[in-house]
Amino acid sequence: MTVTDVRANTVDGAWFAEVRELARDRDAVLLAHNYQLPEIQDVAHHTGDSLALSRIAAESSASTIVFCGVHFMAETAKILAPDKTVLIPDARAGCSLADSITADELRSWKAEHPGAVVVSYVNTTAAVKSETDICCTSSNAVEVVASIPADREVLFLPDQFLGAHVRRTLNRQNMHVWAGECHVHAGINGAELTAQATAHPDAELFVHPECGCATSALYLAGSGAVPADRVKILSTGGMLDAARASRATEVLVATEVGMLHQLRRAAPEIDFRAVNERASCRYMKMITPEALLRSLREGTDEVHVDPELAARGRAAVQRMIAIGRPGGAE
Ligand code: SF4
Repeated sequence: MTVTDVRANTVDGAWFAEVRELARDRDAVLLAHNYQLPEIQDVAHHTGDSLALSRIAAESSASTIVFCGVHFMAETAKILAPDKTVLIPDARAGCSLADSITADELRSWKAEHPGAVVVSYVNTTAAVKSETDICCTSSNAVEVVASIPADREVLFLPDQFLGAHVRRTLNRQNMHVWAGECHVHAGINGAELTAQATAHPDAELFVHPECGCATSALYLAGSGAVPADRVKILSTGGMLDAARASRATEVLVATEVGMLHQLRRAAPEIDFRAVNERASCRYMKMITPEALLRSLREGTDEVHVDPELAARGRAAVQRMIAIGRPGGAE
């Protein structure tokens, strides 16, 4: 019996089977981000972070991509695969981090710093990517900024926590960081992390660098409050690798709670606990089982990116893909 057969025989078997059949009929590949609902992750052909999924979208032979994630991710897939039909089951699935800077705001910022190199985290709209020199992921952000000549100013956007992590790592003074944040990650704060680390003294800490607590995690490690080797600042893909390699029995996870599903599948023997169980992205959770079915039945919601914008953004995204390690984005 295959994995697909096993899942098709679960309580949601009829839904699972219908989704897969409709996908076959549409010649569609189903991609799900790590923060999606567990049943969406399970029915997808591929689950991963936004970089890994973008790569799969570009390389897939399927004529349609159904992107179960948020809108900028589906836009990125369309930028990389302009000839394919890209669907997102609910086009209202936005992202507070991507919304924290517009293309107009970026143009004004660039005008204040002529000659600066613009580095954008992948959580940005297609319009912002079209004004970007190079995109980055949380895994390769340090490498990307380090590759820019030391005498060039850098404009880093939109995430202030990831930017602070890069600036601290490289000790780079001519790097300006946009004050954007994700409401989910900013809600995972240092006080909660400290309380959890104290309550679970033997647990490892997996922290996503977008989290408001990333600075606190580094401080805790630096101050000796938590042994440095217990704190790991990781992208979501990096968390899965670390889970498989870990000998810990308990791990505290500081990122969106959807990540726990993949971690528990990757290392079932480890007790994974969320630092903040309320850290759930309402946009990610708009992709419901019903929305996915509707999308496959009716071909909604199709994602369009202006071809001129897409062409400008593609170079920045392709540089990101060339430098990024698999499993390196949110
Ligand atoms: S968790 Fe935050 S950064 Fe990720 S999609 Fe949701 S709002 Fe955007």
